[in-house]
Amino acid sequence: MDYFSAPIANLIEEFEKLPGIGHKTASRLAFYILNQPMEKASDFAKALIEAKEKTKFCSVCGNLTEHEVCPICASEKRDKSTICVVSDFKDLFAMEKTHEFNGVYHILQGVISPINGIGPDDIKIKELISRLNGNVSEVILATNLNVEGEATAMYISKLIKPMGIKVTRIAHGIPVGGDLEYTDEVTLTMAMEARREI
Ligand code: ZN
Repeated sequence: MDYFSAPIANLIEEFEKLPGIGHKTASRLAFYILNQPMEKASDFAKALIEAKEKTKFCSVCGNLTEHEVCPICASEKRDKSTICVVSDFKDLFAMEKTHEFNGVYHILQGVISPINGIGPDDIKIKELISRLNGNVSEVILATNLNVEGEATAMYISKLIKPMGIKVTRIAHGIPVGGDLEYTDEVTLTMAMEARREI
């Protein structure tokens, strides 16, 4: 016997698809929504649709943005000669929170992972190479310090170094295997300052 009607079961199932949400939390969220006035539930649904509809990828760096080019790429105050390469939007946000980096970014939207069938062509490496047009003097590889992040950094470094561009890798302070996303701002700032040429 099913405990819940189909719409409720369906809502719980949708919450359960979100990262880090188990069945128990999914049920809690679903019941929270059901207990809200119609207006609140409707605002929630609208915010979801609107965020998805109005958000696209920056045509330069791949960041999420409402416009063709994201505010970081569009800003005259950002140093376009230094590109910090990250695997995910979340890492860009982590880096921006430090307020220490004044260059621009490139979001790979993934890492090379042969085990998961993800090769160099499946992430935004070609797009990165096409940005290296002579005005770029340093590429900072800030992928996570785990096996896949290291392999991705190595692969990119081998492509870029022959172009005569300085390639650096963040290192100091971040534990091996550590995710940038969960690294505190001070440690991340130190890691950027202590980056070494590879
Ligand atoms: Zn951008």
